[in-house]
Amino acid sequence: MTDQLSEDDFRLRARAFFAEEVTADVREKLADGGSEFVESFHRRLGADGWIASQWSIEHGGGGGTQREGAILQEEAAFAGAPMLASNLSSIVGFALIEHASPSMVEAYLPGFASGETVVCLGYSEPEVGSDLASLTTRAARDGDDWIISGSKMWTSLAQVADYMLCACRTDPETDRHTGISMFLVPMEHIAVEPVMTLGSFRTNITFLDDIRVSQDNMVGKLHGGWQILMSALDFERAGTCTARVGQARRVLALTWRALEESGQLDRLERERDELADLTAGLTSTAELAYRVADMQAQGMRCPAESSIAKVAGTELLQRATDLSLRLLGPIGLLSRGAPGAFANGELELEHRNAVRYTVTAGTNEIQRNIIAKHGLGLGGSRR
Ligand SMILES: Cc1cc2nc3c(=O)[nH]c(=O)nc-3n(C[C@H](O)[C@H](O)[C@H](O)COP(=O)(O)OP(=O)(O)OC[C@H]3O[C@@H](n4cnc5c(N)ncnc54)[C@H](O)[C@@H]3O)c2cc1C
Repeated sequence: MTDQLSEDDFRLRARAFFAEEVTADVREKLADGGSEFVESFHRRLGADGWIASQWSIEHGGGGGTQREGAILQEEAAFAGAPMLASNLSSIVGFALIEHASPSMVEAYLPGFASGETVVCLGYSEPEVGSDLASLTTRAARDGDDWIISGSKMWTSLAQVADYMLCACRTDPETDRHTGISMFLVPMEHIAVEPVMTLGSFRTNITFLDDIRVSQDNMVGKLHGGWQILMSALDFERAGTCTARVGQARRVLALTWRALEESGQLDRLERERDELADLTAGLTSTAELAYRVADMQAQGMRCPAESSIAKVAGTELLQRATDLSLRLLGPIGLLSRGAPGAFANGELELEHRNAVRYTVTAGTNEIQRNIIAKHGLGLGGSRR
């Protein structure tokens, strides 16, 4: 773990980078695109070493700590940066470092780190989401190759990705958790169709129609996919938490500034307590996410802690946008482009987006099941 001084230094460096690079142009492209992807910004992140800043130096990264990774997420979200592609590269990069062969790591990591290669996650399917162990996309052996067939749902960034980390059933006969393997599948033969969601966010349905990949595309061991999925999801949930904390702080800071400018800060009464509660919640939730990062750095699985962080971060963001809307009144409800819209519609959009985050990376109902099972030792969960 780094000492406090270098952690603070890292935070300041990250803050300065995002202040410089999240320009009005980037924000404009982000608002236009609806996919949380701005290619020029993603390349810039890569060129400056931020995408791989937590990978070890031996793997071409910056050798930073997981805790710094959490700080990075928080600062990026506070600045309103489009980080989805970087987060996916980070998730898949760590999965490869932990599970893949040295030749696979060597072949793929440099592209992820530089931002030249974009990756998406193919876990969910049209009929499978919460209960991932029942996934049906099939990978069947054909000589030295594998033939993959099936479809994936909600494949965010598939429209710009070069590869999909794809969860496939490689043994339909065994226990549903043990017959799953992970593949890195080139997107060139995968059909992609858009699916528009709340907040105008574009995700996709993707079709894998007898796609041939070699054994070299398998990540980790045959039938070892479930472990990869679970640790990648823990990682994603903790990252979601710090990003939502950063976003909530951004929403509150924008609101605060507007109230200050219009001389309304002194008139807050009931909302003072709510603001204090929210600030306390955001601080303690960020600390929890840092703790999860420390546990992950020690190679520990932490399903309960990362699920607690995911629920807390996403629901605090909902409370923050809700409170901001109440404080600002009608101008907060105006959409981008409407005359007088607060922060050019950012609050209205974030309010809708906040719902989405309670679903992605596993719904908050499922997180509560995981907390009950892994944190409290209670039965009854499907996972
Ligand atoms: C915008 C968006 C982007 C996404 N991006 C990706 C992506 O890039 N890659 C990817 O693989 N997936 C992605 N997802 C998928 C996401 O992880 C799933 O939507 C989520 O896991 C829920 O699965 P489902 O949609 O099949 O809902 P279902 O599993 O059908 O659940 C429906 C409802 O029932 C509840 N429920 C289900 N089972 C239980 C239970 N045991 N106990 C209590 N409640 C239960 C759920 O909480 C939910 O409210 C994305 C989803 C969205 C909306």
